[in-house]
Amino acid sequence: MSIEMPKKRIAIFGSTGSIGTQSLEVIKANPDAFEVEILTAHNNAELLISQALEFNPNAVNIVNEDKYEMVKSALAGTDIKVFSGELALEELADFDSYDVMIAAIVGFAGLKPTLKAVEKGKVIALANKETLVVAGDIVMQKALENKAPIIPVDSEHSAIFQCLVGESRNPIEKIILTASGGPFLGKKPNFLVNVKRDHALQHPNWSMGAKITVDSATLMNKGLEMIEAKWLFNLKPEQIDVVIHPQSIIHSMVQFEDGSIKAQMGLPDMKLPIQYALGFPQRIKNDFPRLNFKKYPTFNFEEPDYKTFRNLGLAIDALQNGGNKACVLNAANEIAVWAFLKNRIGFLDITAVVEKTMDAISFIKNPTLQEYFESDAEARNFAATLLKL
Ligand code: NAD
Ligand code: MG
Repeated sequence: MSIEMPKKRIAIFGSTGSIGTQSLEVIKANPDAFEVEILTAHNNAELLISQALEFNPNAVNIVNEDKYEMVKSALAGTDIKVFSGELALEELADFDSYDVMIAAIVGFAGLKPTLKAVEKGKVIALANKETLVVAGDIVMQKALENKAPIIPVDSEHSAIFQCLVGESRNPIEKIILTASGGPFLGKKPNFLVNVKRDHALQHPNWSMGAKITVDSATLMNKGLEMIEAKWLFNLKPEQIDVVIHPQSIIHSMVQFEDGSIKAQMGLPDMKLPIQYALGFPQRIKNDFPRLNFKKYPTFNFEEPDYKTFRNLGLAIDALQNGGNKACVLNAANEIAVWAFLKNRIGFLDITAVVEKTMDAISFIKNPTLQEYFESDAEARNFAATLLKL
């Protein structure tokens, strides 16, 4: 970036996670372009403290109030403001003093602070796909009203976003989301019934937080991404295709009305879409490893196994039905994945919980924000009761 540009002041919500820590690596590599204004974490006070000491933000938030004293006293010698609790997330999102929010909290918990930043007209570098899955219509409407650009960080959506640069007059015929297939590609229910947490956490191509890694193994992640894509790119469900591409080199594709297809490619490394979102509209020179096609002589593509990985079908149901369906799907999935990670339920039970919850919760065609919150709470309660949690 040119030196005359003012530094972009970055707020990382979820700075201690996989996306959060990689965002800090990108910022650290570009000290002339970016500076850290806000950092937030849920539980990991030690990491939040060390990040704060290294990047010297204006403010930090530790959501878990039991850890407040620890963070406060560790940062006592600095002028970093220390906040705590869930409500403070929205308070910080309301600050005037940052330019870009990296929405890197996992799950429904990311919705409120992200919405606050949208209402402030901030640039949103969006990793937290659940925000759009839960309340995509409201979030996109508010983004439009407040001129808040939402730039995707999710690699597939970043790929589509990059393919669309320069194409604003050209309608999309369809998009093709690629999926690695996860660690259980080709496996059948008789194998999956015995799968345990540690096995599901071994993703072949990407290193990510636990929740999204399980979602990748069940293919729920791809379902959530279809819904995310609908809102980001204003698409009809039938314009969104999924293809399994085990090499994870083509990050996704756009097909235009003349049949031409554009793809964005690269090695699987989230730092690239993070950096693209932060630098947009400029590309920033870096020294990340380059893709060497000779090391990837074959690209494979196949149809997802919808019969085995039924979560994908459930997400497509939610995509087609609209209303509060995706919100309910997401809530039930968060509870079920949490239970799976605690070894309380089996891998295939995740789908059963999501399906039963989607059947049980009443359908609302055009929910208000309040109704989305209520549907989320209702679905969580139902799923938890089902699991005797
Ligand atoms: P992670 O679990 O590694 O990190 C989550 C972050 O959110 C942590 O900083 C944690 O402190 C914070 N957090 C968790 N629960 C919270 C709560 N209740 N309130 C406030 N903060 C909370 O997750 P991740 O893998 O970095 O994923 C973050 C988001 O990015 C997810 O929505 C995920 O789907 C999306 N995403 C991640 C990747 C990836 O490579 N990790 C890729 C694409 C999209
Ligand atoms: Mg993705």
